[in-house]
Amino acid sequence: MMKCTVCGSELRALTTRLPFKIGESRIVILKNLPVLQCENCTQYVLQDDVLDKVDQMLARVDSEAELEVIQYAA
Ligand SMILES: [Zn+2]
Repeated sequence: MMKCTVCGSELRALTTRLPFKIGESRIVILKNLPVLQCENCTQYVLQDDVLDKVDQMLARVDSEAELEVIQYAA
């Protein structure tokens, strides 16, 4: 079990939605994103394989919309 780097509490696996900024003015919100969330504070961790997938997904976003909501798909 991984520990929170801020407060040392245990991290819990859950899914959430998080915003990612692309360039200067665009925001992509990923839904159902698996993260490790601290039980005690607001700290969370994205695991490496999830981060890689997020990078791939953000690179494929071709809309010019300022705000886009996308379902995370592993
Ligand atoms: Zn914590």
